Amino acid sequence: MANDDLRALIRTIPDFPKPGIQFRDITTLLLSPTGLATAVERMVAAVDGPVDLVAGIEARGFLFAAALAVPLKAGVLLIRKDGKLPGATIAEDYALEYGQDRIAIHADACAPGARVLLIDDLIATGGTARAAVRLLRKAGATVTQARFLVDLPDLGGADALRAEDIRVDALVS
Ligand code: 5GP
Repeated sequence: MANDDLRALIRTIPDFPKPGIQFRDITTLLLSPTGLATAVERMVAAVDGPVDLVAGIEARGFLFAAALAVPLKAGVLLIRKDGKLPGATIAEDYALEYGQDRIAIHADACAPGARVLLIDDLIATGGTARAAVRLLRKAGATVTQARFLVDLPDLGGADALRAEDIRVDALVS
């Protein structure tokens, strides 16, 4: 399956979640057995070196984090919206277009020096992924690579993440 075919499985929903936003909806790719398997295989193939934990960003990132962790023989670390994890957490704030948001991980989720691969379905401005990297590094993780299904390059998130010494790869732009 070509990457153009993967792109064709992602649909655009206009004016979601608010007017003027073109939302890239990946649920249609998830519905396709071939599309899902191809996306996971390509994301796995793009990983550099050994990984101890795959960190997925809530909620669609969880799906890909688990699917990559199994062949990579790694564990899964959940990065959640603040207030959702039951144990003691550490959190990181990040700016949204209007206001701010906060993500959290369990404070004991990763051993110091653990090699953590960051995963999400999509990178736009990079605000979420950069906050995730700060949070994981605060926890002592070694984070050098991030993989996404979709990059929206006009929004500059992938370049901003690269400036934090992260190797960034996405299957579809
Ligand atoms: P960023 O922080 O890079 O601006 O936004 C990326 C985060 O918001 C990701 O967690 C991603 O799931 C979500 N997101 C933002 N825009 C879209 C979109 O158009 N489609 C999807 N599937 N997720 C989006």
